[in-house]
Amino acid sequence: MVGTPIGNQYDFSPRARDILDTVSVIACEDTRTSGSFLRNMSIRTPLTSYHQHNEHGKTPELINRIQAGESVALISDAGMPAISDPGFLLARAAHQAGIPVVPIPGPVAAVTALAASGLPSDRFVFEGFLPQKKGRQTRIKLLVEEERTIILYESPHRIVKLMKELLEHTDENRLCAVGRELTKMYEEIRRGSLRELYDEFSTRSKQKGEFVFLLAGKSYSEEDVN
Ligand code: SAM
Repeated sequence: MVGTPIGNQYDFSPRARDILDTVSVIACEDTRTSGSFLRNMSIRTPLTSYHQHNEHGKTPELINRIQAGESVALISDAGMPAISDPGFLLARAAHQAGIPVVPIPGPVAAVTALAASGLPSDRFVFEGFLPQKKGRQTRIKLLVEEERTIILYESPHRIVKLMKELLEHTDENRLCAVGRELTKMYEEIRRGSLRELYDEFSTRSKQKGEFVFLLAGKSYSEEDVN
């Protein structure tokens, strides 16, 4: 399970590079996206596709290849595999088959945003993407009751909608943060009340880039902090 950068290519670790250079095959979500990244890193290992639409069928095939003596590295388009990306099925199947799973850590957008957010990081929950339609409102109602910092992934065209939905269900003064385009040229880390961030982002003509949204726990108040 090999982490790759979430933007800045200098976050690619020497260890990740060595592993990807030496395994028999690299399983990746998109052979074109990863192919171009790996070529830039001078890695010419063969690729095979492993994505959300073929992972069920492809998992036993990769396990068979490992059992036949090959070594397989799994990467995703960005960040750590298995984090809002394919990977869980393969790691589980490897464990079940007695195959060692070796983590080669790299950046994760959620934790990167949390560390920079200045929101409580001692206890947090990662929710990934909320369902787009069915179950979304139910999930939001549950989440606003959460006492730990909540980390969400959201697409640029739904980020303002997410803030609006949260405003309908929780206190507008609740502290939150947005990490946008982390590690990239237009990186932005915004922090403020839910109302302030909603007002700020909703007046932008277009939302661009990749977003992590963080909401402080229900009872967290900055006045409690020395
Ligand atoms: N596996 C990845 C990880 O370890 O973070 C997450 C993959 S998920 C399909 C993609 C989502 O992660 C984006 O829609 C966005 O919410 C978040 N994300 C990824 N890269 C980001 C970045 N550079 N800045 C902000 N958010 C990012």
